[in-house]
Amino acid sequence: MKRKRIEKRLEDLKVRPHLIDYEKIYKEFQWEEVASQFEGLPGGGLNIAHEAIDRHANGVLVHKTALVWLGEDGQRREFTFMQMKQESNKFANVLRSLGLSKGDRVFTLSTRLPELYIAAMGVFKNRSVLCPLFSQFGPEPILQRMVRGDAKVLLTTKSLFEKKVRPLLDQLPQLEVVLLIDAQEDESEKVRSLARLMQKASDVFEILPTDPEDMSLLHFTSGTTGMPKGVVHVHKAIYMHWMSGRYVLDLYPEDIYWCTADPGWVTGTSYGMITPWLHGITNIVSEAEFDAQQWYKILQDEKVSIWYTAPTAIRRLMRLDFDPLKTYDLSSLRLVQSVGEPLNPEAVIWGMEKLKLPIHDNWWQTETGGIMIANLISQPIWSGSMGRPLPGVEAAIVQKKENGGIAEIIGPYKEGELALKPGGPSMFRGYLHDEERYEKCFVDGWYLTGDLAYKDEEGYFWFIGRADDIIKTSGHMVGPFEVESILMEHPSVAEAGAIGKPDPMVGQLVKAFVSLKEGFEPSEELRRELIGFGRKKLGVAIAPKEIEFLPSLPKTRSGKIMRRLLKAREMGLPEGDISTLEA
Ligand code: ATP
Ligand code: MG
Repeated sequence: MKRKRIEKRLEDLKVRPHLIDYEKIYKEFQWEEVASQFEGLPGGGLNIAHEAIDRHANGVLVHKTALVWLGEDGQRREFTFMQMKQESNKFANVLRSLGLSKGDRVFTLSTRLPELYIAAMGVFKNRSVLCPLFSQFGPEPILQRMVRGDAKVLLTTKSLFEKKVRPLLDQLPQLEVVLLIDAQEDESEKVRSLARLMQKASDVFEILPTDPEDMSLLHFTSGTTGMPKGVVHVHKAIYMHWMSGRYVLDLYPEDIYWCTADPGWVTGTSYGMITPWLHGITNIVSEAEFDAQQWYKILQDEKVSIWYTAPTAIRRLMRLDFDPLKTYDLSSLRLVQSVGEPLNPEAVIWGMEKLKLPIHDNWWQTETGGIMIANLISQPIWSGSMGRPLPGVEAAIVQKKENGGIAEIIGPYKEGELALKPGGPSMFRGYLHDEERYEKCFVDGWYLTGDLAYKDEEGYFWFIGRADDIIKTSGHMVGPFEVESILMEHPSVAEAGAIGKPDPMVGQLVKAFVSLKEGFEPSEELRRELIGFGRKKLGVAIAPKEIEFLPSLPKTRSGKIMRRLLKAREMGLPEGDISTLEA
């Protein structure tokens, strides 16, 4: 893999002086300092919505814009911290009037509408539990999750309700109320107009004492490797959100921030709503789905300074033969961060060329609740590396011992499973209804992530692949990421997914599925060229022996390549859970 070290001109990046000395941050970091950033509830305790919204609405940021909402139809609406406080108070009162209290589950199924963000804060205020669903789910995944998650209330829109939920009502006996965002009238006792209830609700709400360990969110994982798991989080996670907002996203009051993730996935809640507001930052929300020109236009028109997105989006921008800086003024942009999948080195370099900014990779999972490993704005980047553990986070590479248990692997470049010291504020507190699975994640004082990686001598972590995706060929362990990243260095390749295909001679042979960039067509000649390219760069032992062209690769709705599906299809096996497969 092409490892390129990217040194940054710190003065160009307007880096805060305190961020420059990583070793010092690491050594001096204390969670107490983060704790001192929070106000706490007047009656005691810690509540996400109080720290993210009310605290600012009660102070000097009262009239600052908290949310800029860009509708699919071109509408633009702004909400100040005060308006967010009042509206979320109303929503909390609506929940209270419906008899919901601490621990009750409120599901949401909506596109990225302002009401979704207001409701989320209202749910936290009422100490109920937010369970966001991705609006593009079909009825089956919705049903599965609502049943498993004991949904009492569902917030949705008229059209999503008609299309996807109404046919399920018989199977959801525990569901008490459906709130329709865009209905003017109640349909029945059960199916209500949100607007009507909000009209009647008071905009004053006292948040009852909230224990930092009270459950706040239930998030389902992406389902990349199998059946999605329900992951339990608590209010205290904001310690990690605040800290990573400062050190990774470098959020400061004058910033305009845009996270492209949908709240149906953990990035869209942790970093699409909670983190920017903990820092009192103006948060951009765009309702529309990906569109390259539209996205560049948002970055330009809204003067976005901090942009948090995902490799899948960056690869889609890379596909186009287009120079954004020739058409758009992106001079406000000072930091691009990416999460969700491995970020191919080619993508980091593309950023340097086309945006004049590197793309900073960071790593975390639904289970960790917040960013754990990252390339900080001030640090040199090794393209292809996830970066270094954040202050307060201890990460290691471990392996199973022969007689049970695990041991830390000391020394650079040794491959093993990525593990974290448990106990961090944002770490999950359980898998819903699956205590056994939860307990299995913890061995000998470490949390096992299920991802394979190695560490280099500077302490940067390098992703190899998910344990389930590793290819065993002729006695070698091959990480799909390495094979895919090499293929992406070829000018024709937009995306690649590598799998191990069972083979009597070598155990598994490496097979790669490839989709091409604009202007390239599949051909036998190109296939042979890519095989030759792989051999030259990777060596015969680990280069793909087979290459197949696909118009696009199967991905989760959050944009992750589903290698398990490529494999199942290749082998003619059942596809398993495909509830999160992109349509
Ligand atoms: P499931 O657990 O249901 O299979 P999932 O693991 O994809 O789905 P998420 O919690 O959304 O669900 O994703 C976390 C995983 O995504 C990580 O464990 C890792 O495999 C991958 N990932 C996230 N960020 C990065 C990154 N920067 N580099 C490499 N992999 C990443
Ligand atoms: Mg996972």
